[in-house]
Amino acid sequence: MVVEEVDRPQGRKGPGEAAGGDGRVSLAEEAYALLREKILRVELWPGATFSESQLVGQLELGKTPIREALLRLRLEGLVLVQPRAGYQVAPATLKGTRDALGLRAVLDAEAAARASEQQAAGPALRELDEEIAGSARSSVAECVDSDHRFHVAVARASGNDSLAEAVDRSFVEYVRLAHLAAAIEAAWAPRPHAHGELVEAIDRGDAGAARELARAEARDAELRIVEALISSDSITTANVLPASSNTFYLDIPRKHSD
Ligand SMILES: [Zn+2]
Repeated sequence: MVVEEVDRPQGRKGPGEAAGGDGRVSLAEEAYALLREKILRVELWPGATFSESQLVGQLELGKTPIREALLRLRLEGLVLVQPRAGYQVAPATLKGTRDALGLRAVLDAEAAARASEQQAAGPALRELDEEIAGSARSSVAECVDSDHRFHVAVARASGNDSLAEAVDRSFVEYVRLAHLAAAIEAAWAPRPHAHGELVEAIDRGDAGAARELARAEARDAELRIVEALISSDSITTANVLPASSNTFYLDIPRKHSD
């Protein structure tokens, strides 16, 4: 499961891959991949609301595949159900951003430390890092996808498949937030991290250094994304209230019109 995600971090399927086994991608799979990509690349804006019939009309894939795709996206936390039968793209909040990227830092750091305890993890990671360094990383998607591949590979090298799946899942929100940061601030781009030092620390079995390097990289990504998000107009022009503000009432005398 994770292996498949490593190759296509954003859940895209290659041609010919399908649930159907006859070489065709099932309509539900196609709807899922299309919608997921639109959400992760913020073509469907965080917090945007939509109905099932709107999607049926736009994607022309039929009601059942769309419904199946929406169910999967709900399970992934990318789509929420609205009280009156509509849907909403999961909103992006500062707290949610810090939570998601903070979790990524914890998981990446632990994965790196554990990978360094496994002998022979280094050479394969070095090879992957060199392959990534030599690949095109000019767009936000290319940068975050290659970083996703690398960190899932580190987690897999730890030998703990559940940890690898958790790292894989933690990147989903990171991918979306990186695209959101770039959509808010045109000049924003993920820093294409070199992983040479991290690979070296893993190779020589230095768990402390590996943990710290992976943690620092994830924290840097978090800070840069938060910085971009707080420059958004929706944040900078929001009215700031203290936490206790909802218990405060203005005591305005009523006018007597009668
Ligand atoms: Zn990285």
